[in-house]
Amino acid sequence: MNDTRLEAMILVDNERNRENAKWGEQNHPPQFWVGILGEEFGEYCQAVNETVFDNGESERAKGGTDNIILELTHVAAVAVSHIECLLRQKGGKDKWIRYHEWAESISEIEAERDEANNYAQENEDYALKVESERDEWKAKFEQADRMFIAADDAASRFEEKCKILTAERDRMREALKSIKDWLHIYLSAESVFTVADGSAREGLGKVSDKERR
Ligand SMILES: [Mg+2]
Repeated sequence: MNDTRLEAMILVDNERNRENAKWGEQNHPPQFWVGILGEEFGEYCQAVNETVFDNGESERAKGGTDNIILELTHVAAVAVSHIECLLRQKGGKDKWIRYHEWAESISEIEAERDEANNYAQENEDYALKVESERDEWKAKFEQADRMFIAADDAASRFEEKCKILTAERDRMREALKSIKDWLHIYLSAESVFTVADGSAREGLGKVSDKERR
């Protein structure tokens, strides 16, 4: 850096220090900086004009090399101050980028939420279908249950009837046995009777023979 540039830079740096001492750290939106810089540029123009044009003694005092350097220093210092402000606000730019990333992540979360909602809706539909099928099956089971109870009653009645028939059969067997016993007695009696009848007839025959003689 040559001497005159260094000197110009020192002038601007000193002006920056003066401004900071007077107003503190300056943070403005760009449209404010345009106005501030425009005012200093206007003063620079005025210093040039009052140097080259003759507007009388009092106006001439605003011109001259020193005033031109002074106003250019103001212009440069305001430009540097705006640059400093923008550099500080780059965090804001980063925030903007982070906001976009955040917005993207929100979109992703919303998409996931929608997907989850769809999944939940599908599950709900499926659950309703299953519930409906369950009710159908429940009705079928209840019907089957009633049929089983009816069949069980019929089986019980059949069992009772079987017991009655078994008892009847046993009584019939007893009766048959009595009949057999009686038949046996009858046959024995008949046999005795036949023998007796034979003997009687034989006896009668003998009597007749005697009578014929
Ligand atoms: Mg000025």
